[in-house]
Amino acid sequence: MENAITKRYSNGEVTVVWQPARCIHSGACARGLPLVFDPRRRPWIELASATSEQIVAQVARCPSGALSIEQEPKA
Ligand code: SF4
Repeated sequence: MENAITKRYSNGEVTVVWQPARCIHSGACARGLPLVFDPRRRPWIELASATSEQIVAQVARCPSGALSIEQEPKA
């Protein structure tokens, strides 16, 4: 996975990491938090539309592991 694309989206508290090569397009993220995950929008992930807790919980439901969370270090 040397040249695999990895995208990061941060709200200052948590960073969502998306690895498109692993996405199986189940749509679970868009169904769970449609304002945050909208595949028709660019950028398709917009973290301002939910709380960090909601985002972390939804990322945990990604069936493929394409979405993951990087916790920001506490200031
Ligand atoms: S839940 Fe995961 S596998 Fe499903 S569409 Fe979203 S990122 Fe892709």
